[in-house]
Amino acid sequence: METSVHTKFDTSVILPELAKESLEPHVNLRPKNFDEYPGQERICENLKVYTQAAKLRGKMLDHCLFHGPPGLGKTTLAGIIADTMGCLIKVTSGPVIERAADLMGILASIEPRTILFIDEIHRLPANVEEILYSAMEDMRLDILIGQGPTARTVKFDLPPFCIIGATTRAGSISAPLRDRFGIQEHLDYYTPEALTKILLRSATIMNAHIKKDAAYLLSKRCRGTPRIANQLLKRILDFALVSHKSIIDCEIVNLSLERLGVDSEGLSLMDREFLKIMSDRYQGGPVGLDAISAALNEEKSTLEDVYEPYLVYRGFILRTARGRMLSESGKKHLQNSFVTL
Ligand code: ADP
Repeated sequence: METSVHTKFDTSVILPELAKESLEPHVNLRPKNFDEYPGQERICENLKVYTQAAKLRGKMLDHCLFHGPPGLGKTTLAGIIADTMGCLIKVTSGPVIERAADLMGILASIEPRTILFIDEIHRLPANVEEILYSAMEDMRLDILIGQGPTARTVKFDLPPFCIIGATTRAGSISAPLRDRFGIQEHLDYYTPEALTKILLRSATIMNAHIKKDAAYLLSKRCRGTPRIANQLLKRILDFALVSHKSIIDCEIVNLSLERLGVDSEGLSLMDREFLKIMSDRYQGGPVGLDAISAALNEEKSTLEDVYEPYLVYRGFILRTARGRMLSESGKKHLQNSFVTL
């Protein structure tokens, strides 16, 4: 059972000097090079080698595919690679490229040494994907002109370029497309140590003072995800500001997380609702994701991409051939779950 969320924040006065110093909400926290990017050490070390080798050869980097849950730094890595290689980066995403002509237009206008970053690459339509095959493998566009017996293929050479694809669903990418990525890496949830470094860096950029133990406490309650860590930090700074705290300590972290509905294990209200439905309506399962999606009134794809992976990673949910099951630790967590102080 959850404890009631009570207010200990004075929201009546905002001190002007604190407001002045406080964070700019849209500040850019995205790291620009490998040194500013804690975590994913093995991947970063390998990418440093691949980028250095490509530069020594005077060639472009091989095509890269990054997969893993949202917010773990796939887009950020693409930017860092572009910076390291001294390349241009063009950003697009699978759902935006609806027709083959859209992709041809992008490729035909590409400048030499460009990185084309395609987010959600698993959502490219099949006919668009096929164009990528020859573009990636032979650096060439095969354009079909005309129809019927008079149709002919015109070959169009592309300048040196590299595609970096990002996806939350590696399994949804067709084998022919996947095989054309010479570098493939899976990004995993971050350790509290790496997240602490990220939080301390973000706080510095935002001119905020956070104690190391408070950063560590927060790092253990942000679903192993830098994007969530930064979002929670920004909200904690709001709470600190209106309660006249100039230094973020463990007390303000705990109070803020309680207000935000983040529990002792870092699960959000939605995460707990997910587990609760499995427990209360389906006696712990097995239950299909369609049923959970209907009960939660949430898109199945959102549950699959955003919520479920972390619950599975933490062992609260088991994926079986018959459906999702609530694990013993999931049941235990629900019984003990409360927003800690
Ligand atoms: P993805 O593309 O995997 O969804 P992003 O690259 O957009 O994730 O990262 C989300 C946010 O988290 C970025 O704005 C960035 O500030 C932060 N971030 C991600 N990875 C790191 C990291 N290793 N170090 C510091 N900040 C990070």
